[in-house]
Amino acid sequence: MTQTAGAKIIDGRHHARQLREALRIKAAGLLAKFGAPPKLTVILVGDDAPSRLYVSNKSKACRDVGIASVVIELPASTGLEALLAVIEEQNRDPSVHGILVQLPLPAHLPVHAVLERISVEKDVDGFHLYNVGSLALGTAVFPPCTPYGVQKLLEAEGIPIAGQNVVVVGASNIVGKPTAMMLMQKDATVCICHAKTRDLAQFTILADILVVAAGKPNLIVPQMVKTGAVVIDVGINRLPNGKVVGDVDFEGVRQKASYITPVPGGVGPMTVTMLLANTITAAQRMWGISETSTGT
Ligand code: NAD
Repeated sequence: MTQTAGAKIIDGRHHARQLREALRIKAAGLLAKFGAPPKLTVILVGDDAPSRLYVSNKSKACRDVGIASVVIELPASTGLEALLAVIEEQNRDPSVHGILVQLPLPAHLPVHAVLERISVEKDVDGFHLYNVGSLALGTAVFPPCTPYGVQKLLEAEGIPIAGQNVVVVGASNIVGKPTAMMLMQKDATVCICHAKTRDLAQFTILADILVVAAGKPNLIVPQMVKTGAVVIDVGINRLPNGKVVGDVDFEGVRQKASYITPVPGGVGPMTVTMLLANTITAAQRMWGISETSTGT
């Protein structure tokens, strides 16, 4: 890693735009060849306002690259059997290539039972047990979107992963654990920290690449970061004054790091882009094309 006076700010919007351009060409090619676009069904249960916004962003992103998208809205009172029946119907529909159930679900619905009903061939969020298992084995077809976006950002910036010390702060099933597995698969030496880790700084200071996904503003301050480290801030926190920040003290840490992602405009735009990539991959697989949408 190079040592710099100020970090290069990784422009996630720029990298997302570039990837989407390539995806747009692939979607158009599939439409021309098969007479139908790749198609994503998003299932939204209940009235959670942030979820509604995320779903609308996903639909907009689909339209932007030529993926058809359908949103199925169900009331918060929907029972498990009714939800599973809707998923089954989408599983059977040959015009649907990807299915995503927006999380979080209302508390009465068991998340795993729901996610495991999605056909593994349409599981573009990569949360089905089968796809989680294949991630552990290094054979993932649909890597979960946020970790996939982190990996793509590192690759797009030409940042080497093999042999690097990677510290992931956060051990959730959707971000921390899969990020750690994916970077380990790329031959990094990986350490995972979480809320019960004693003296977080003694781990983070060793990181050549520090990925932070805890959901705690200002968790990472300059003293915790090695000079020249690459810092990827996955956190999204809305402060009482309405400002959106990550988990890293951006202004302080950028003086010490070699690369840093801003929030917003870093990992966030990549997450939705990787969902588009996975949906195109699902369509290609269903139509018998083995090449993946992102070239991995
Ligand atoms: P989560 O709450 O499920 O998990 C948080 C993890 O951080 C847990 O493993 C917890 O042990 C750990 N943690 C909490 N406090 C800690 C501390 N003080 N020190 C060390 N570890 C600590 O959250 P999540 O779903 O993994 O999301 C994490 C953050 O990433 C949130 O801010 C979320 O909004 C954001 N996020 C961003 C994107 C994106 O596209 N940019 C996508 C998903 C999540």
